[in-house]
Amino acid sequence: MTTERTLSIIKPNAVAKNAIGAILGRFEAAGLHVVAARMLHLSREQASAFYAIHQGKPFFEELVGFMTSGPVMVQVLEGDDAVAKNRDIMGATNPANAAPGTIRADFADSFTENAAHGSDAPETAEIEIAFFFPEGVCPRTR
Ligand code: UDP
Repeated sequence: MTTERTLSIIKPNAVAKNAIGAILGRFEAAGLHVVAARMLHLSREQASAFYAIHQGKPFFEELVGFMTSGPVMVQVLEGDDAVAKNRDIMGATNPANAAPGTIRADFADSFTENAAHGSDAPETAEIEIAFFFPEGVCPRTR
């Protein structure tokens, strides 16, 4: 197993549900450490840039509208196989397909409002972490 970092976002619908603590608790219970965190309200420019890969897709405007509808909590998670582990804990992108007990099964409101984001590969994680934490992330003390 390799120690990795991944970028996680608690999306506006889950923040509005007062579920930040519940969601972070799931990461911690699974052995992932929060090594950086910030709360912010994304601008249209930030949300469009973060999801640039989806520009032109039918759901893009709804996604950007949703991601800018309220504050988000952005964190870097560190641990063994953090990228895959985070995606397991989140569940499938479409909450209709998310396994019981996953974040999306428990906190999503729709395909778009699916409660959480997690990087899909270590290479993407590096880019996404730099997007939100350009100043870098301190090493974790053990
Ligand atoms: N999304 C959507 N409709 C779709 C596909 C995706 O609204 O048909 C939204 C959903 O919020 C998803 C985000 O766009 O989390 C990014 O999609 P991606 O395929 O990258 O899924 P993820 O990596 O978030 O699981």
